[in-house]
Amino acid sequence: MLVRLMYASRAVPAVDHEELIAILRKSKANNPAVGVTGVLCFSGGIFLQVLEGGRSAVNKLYNRIASDSRHTNVELLVYEEIGERRFAGWSMGQVNMSRLNPALLLKYSERATLDPFSVSGQVSMALFQELMATASIVGQS
Ligand code: FAD
Repeated sequence: MLVRLMYASRAVPAVDHEELIAILRKSKANNPAVGVTGVLCFSGGIFLQVLEGGRSAVNKLYNRIASDSRHTNVELLVYEEIGERRFAGWSMGQVNMSRLNPALLLKYSERATLDPFSVSGQVSMALFQELMATASIVGQS
């Protein structure tokens, strides 16, 4: 039983590039053991993350992440049962913001900024799909 979960959250002010690297390092260390894959995007103080894997593993991890003091306003955007993974190649991929084309953001939202709180979960998921298609996700494992 595989599920895909996506949430958005707001980083606390103390989260900087080094903290982001620490989160990614921890994710890459922990996720393979529980069979979780996914992608994390961090832009303008907003996290957007997709987690895929067994239902129980994803649920447990999401609950742990949601209680992490490094972010607030954790909002579940998508939760679905899936037949196959979309992000199987990443224990936790990272969106390369320098390769994020503003036109891609404009395609899906009113302004060229990442704001998953103001668009539907399906729109944010479509954005992730395009990021994958344009090789804008790094950290393949
Ligand atoms: P340890 O690393 O040993 O940590 C023990 C405790 O300390 C945990 O409760 C942890 O939350 C807390 N902690 C550790 N470092 C810090 C810190 N710098 N600031 C505040 N509290 C801290 N973890 C994953 O395993 N996979 C993921 O995909 C993942 N994605 C994340 C995405 C986001 C946006 C955030 C904010 C965190 C994410 N985490 C992820 C981290 C997760 O919330 C836990 O911190 C981590 O899983 C705990 O790992 P551990 O059990 O090895 O405990």
